[in-house]
Amino acid sequence: RAIVRDIDTLEEQNPSIKPVPTLEVDPTLFEKRFLKKIRELGEGHFGKVELCRYDPRGDRTGELVAVKSLKPENGDEQSSSLWREIGILKELYHENIVKYKGICQEEGGRAIKLIMEYLPAGSLKEYLPRNRGQTRPETLLSYAVQICQGMDYLGSRNYIHRDLAARNVLVENESTVKIGDFGLTKSIKDNEGYYTVKDDLDSPVFWYAPECLVHCKFYLASDVWSFGVTMYELFTYCETALSPMSVFLKLIGPTQGQMTVTRLVKVLEEGKRLPRPESCTGAVYELMRACWESTPESRITFKALIAEFTRLLA
Ligand code: ADP
Ligand code: MG
Repeated sequence: RAIVRDIDTLEEQNPSIKPVPTLEVDPTLFEKRFLKKIRELGEGHFGKVELCRYDPRGDRTGELVAVKSLKPENGDEQSSSLWREIGILKELYHENIVKYKGICQEEGGRAIKLIMEYLPAGSLKEYLPRNRGQTRPETLLSYAVQICQGMDYLGSRNYIHRDLAARNVLVENESTVKIGDFGLTKSIKDNEGYYTVKDDLDSPVFWYAPECLVHCKFYLASDVWSFGVTMYELFTYCETALSPMSVFLKLIGPTQGQMTVTRLVKVLEEGKRLPRPESCTGAVYELMRACWESTPESRITFKALIAEFTRLLA
């Protein structure tokens, strides 16, 4: 008691030593005024991603971050999808999944931005065509394992990604890749094991398994199919002329709208598949084909893929 009284007296005599009430600073809340846009990084259906510097001190020493927001032309329905993406990414902790940093809310709290770590090399789609020379097939295989590891973790959390493709895999450095873009990710209820889509206008059809195209049902195994297509992209070094879309369109002829899906389903049902890329060995192509078994039950799993790749890399 006496000590407390002494401190009080001391403080009265010296106002400067009075303890400042500590502000609760939430490091995941980014203030809009400190977020300086540097350039655009890319865009997809609904969102766009910008490189920004978060510079509260205003002296360009702040860190670089990737900022995802909705394109202005998209209305409020999509804003809830970005909120959902934030909610999911925030709970994911894995070395092959892009790191969540926080959010930035516009004054009034209407618009929202997602702040993630910035990966300077961009997505595989930008990286591979440019770095073909120094990327050996073994490296591609190691990217494949890492994608499977991220996907296996995602599945263990009962999420299906629904948009796995080279454009959504980011490159940290020449030896590490991370899954990004969880915009279409859905949580699956344990008892059902799949997710049903209602509106399916903007789907990446050439990455989709037959059950997704025919019944609009997504299983964990449907992500395995898309992974097979992503693997195909890896081994073609994301060459545009060999892209899944180019190859399938050549197979089905030029079509539009729902007709594309109908014809795509037909060729898949006939057993036609993407061809073996030149830089891909027979053993690796067999794993790709195992991702493209017609029924979800007969497809290989991410765990089995990891085991097989590890064996091939040993
Ligand atoms: P969308 O949902 O609109 O497809 P994405 O999250 O896939 O948005 O981002 C679009 C593009 O922006 C990616 O293909 C990639 O090129 C780039 N990008 C996204 N996130 C990052 C990041 N964290 N670091 C660097 N580039 C990124
Ligand atoms: Mg994307």
